[in-house]
Amino acid sequence: MSYDALFYAGSEEPHFLDACTLCSKPLSHNSDIFMYRGNTPFCSQECRQEQIESDEARERRWKKMASKKSTETSKKSATVQTGTLVASN
Ligand SMILES: [Zn+2]
Repeated sequence: MSYDALFYAGSEEPHFLDACTLCSKPLSHNSDIFMYRGNTPFCSQECRQEQIESDEARERRWKKMASKKSTETSKKSATVQTGTLVASN
């Protein structure tokens, strides 16, 4: 129904696969491109890692918000579950 939204979303990514998603550095075909989630290109491992970490932080925040709303009783045990999940690959 709302095709307008699709057009707008498309026009906001004019440099798709041409530039690093994080720092907007142009990506040449000769240099290495680090893909993330299938269609998100980055110029370096560092940029990709930063995106991954910010994504994970956002997901964690969403989960926290969701669990806070649904189960108020699990608030006390939640403080114990603040372990750090490190993806070392
Ligand atoms: Zn970059």
